[in-house]
Amino acid sequence: MIKTSHVFIDDLDKLKFNKVCLITGKEFTEKDCKSKNVIMLECNHAFCYKAFMLSYNELNKDIMSYRKCPYCMTDIFKVPYKFIKKTYRD
Ligand SMILES: [Zn+2]
Repeated sequence: MIKTSHVFIDDLDKLKFNKVCLITGKEFTEKDCKSKNVIMLECNHAFCYKAFMLSYNELNKDIMSYRKCPYCMTDIFKVPYKFIKKTYRD
Protein backbone atom coordinates (compact mmCIF):
# COMPACT_ATOMS: atom_id res chain seq x y z
CA MET A 1 0.00 0.00 0.00
CA ILE A 2 1.24 3.44 -0.88
CA LYS A 3 1.44 5.68 2.12
CA THR A 4 -0.61 8.77 1.53
CA SER A 5 0.12 12.20 2.77
CA HIS A 6 -2.33 14.59 4.43
CA VAL A 7 -5.92 14.82 3.24
CA PHE A 8 -8.56 17.45 3.61
CA ILE A 9 -11.55 15.87 5.27
CA ASP A 10 -14.77 16.45 3.35
CA ASP A 11 -16.90 14.14 5.45
CA LEU A 12 -16.89 13.80 9.23
CA ASP A 13 -17.11 10.01 8.82
CA LYS A 14 -13.63 10.03 7.33
CA LEU A 15 -12.06 11.16 10.57
CA LYS A 16 -10.13 8.22 11.98
CA PHE A 17 -8.69 9.29 15.28
CA ASN A 18 -10.13 12.46 16.68
CA LYS A 19 -13.31 14.41 16.02
CA VAL A 20 -12.09 17.47 17.90
CA CYS A 21 -9.18 19.63 16.79
CA LEU A 22 -6.15 18.63 18.86
CA ILE A 23 -4.90 22.21 18.88
CA THR A 24 -7.97 24.34 19.41
CA GLY A 25 -10.18 21.74 21.11
CA LYS A 26 -13.03 22.65 18.80
CA GLU A 27 -15.29 19.97 17.44
CA PHE A 28 -15.22 19.62 13.67
CA THR A 29 -18.45 20.43 11.91
CA GLU A 30 -19.93 19.67 8.49
CA LYS A 31 -19.31 23.29 7.66
CA ASP A 32 -15.61 22.91 8.41
CA CYS A 33 -15.53 19.92 6.08
CA LYS A 34 -17.27 21.79 3.29
CA SER A 35 -14.90 24.72 3.50
CA LYS A 36 -11.91 22.39 3.71
CA ASN A 37 -10.93 23.56 7.15
CA VAL A 38 -10.11 20.11 8.44
CA ILE A 39 -6.79 18.52 7.62
CA MET A 40 -5.83 14.99 8.55
CA LEU A 41 -2.20 13.98 8.52
CA GLU A 42 -0.85 10.57 7.62
CA CYS A 43 -0.73 9.66 11.32
CA ASN A 44 -4.56 10.10 11.28
CA HIS A 45 -4.55 13.10 13.54
CA ALA A 46 -6.90 15.82 12.38
CA PHE A 47 -6.64 19.55 12.95
CA CYS A 48 -8.30 22.81 12.03
CA TYR A 49 -6.31 23.89 9.03
CA LYS A 50 -5.54 27.40 10.30
CA ALA A 51 -4.44 26.25 13.74
CA PHE A 52 -2.37 23.51 12.17
CA MET A 53 -0.56 25.89 9.84
CA LEU A 54 0.27 28.25 12.71
CA SER A 55 1.70 25.43 14.74
CA TYR A 56 3.40 23.89 11.71
CA ASN A 57 5.15 27.15 10.92
CA GLU A 58 6.33 27.40 14.51
CA LEU A 59 7.57 23.81 14.58
CA ASN A 60 9.42 24.27 11.31
CA LYS A 61 11.59 26.94 12.89
CA ASP A 62 13.33 24.19 14.80
CA ILE A 63 15.12 21.37 13.00
CA MET A 64 14.07 18.94 15.76
CA SER A 65 10.41 19.50 15.08
CA TYR A 66 10.63 20.23 11.37
CA ARG A 67 7.77 18.71 9.42
CA LYS A 68 6.18 16.88 12.27
CA CYS A 69 2.67 16.33 13.46
CA PRO A 70 2.11 18.89 16.27
CA TYR A 71 0.40 16.21 18.34
CA CYS A 72 2.44 13.01 18.05
CA MET A 73 5.61 14.30 16.36
CA THR A 74 5.40 11.80 13.54
CA ASP A 75 7.24 12.90 10.42
CA ILE A 76 4.87 14.25 7.84
CA PHE A 77 5.54 14.38 4.15
CA LYS A 78 4.87 17.76 2.76
CA VAL A 79 3.51 21.16 3.44
CA PRO A 80 -0.22 21.21 2.90
CA TYR A 81 -0.50 24.68 1.50
CA LYS A 82 -3.74 25.74 0.00
CA PHE A 83 -5.07 28.95 -1.40
CA ILE A 84 -6.78 30.58 1.52
CA LYS A 85 -9.15 32.87 -0.37
CA LYS A 86 -10.40 30.25 -2.79
CA THR A 87 -13.67 28.67 -1.76
CA TYR A 88 -15.66 26.17 -3.70
CA ARG A 89 -19.39 25.91 -3.51
CA ASP A 90 -21.75 23.60 -5.29
ZN1 LIG B 1 -0.05 12.81 14.68
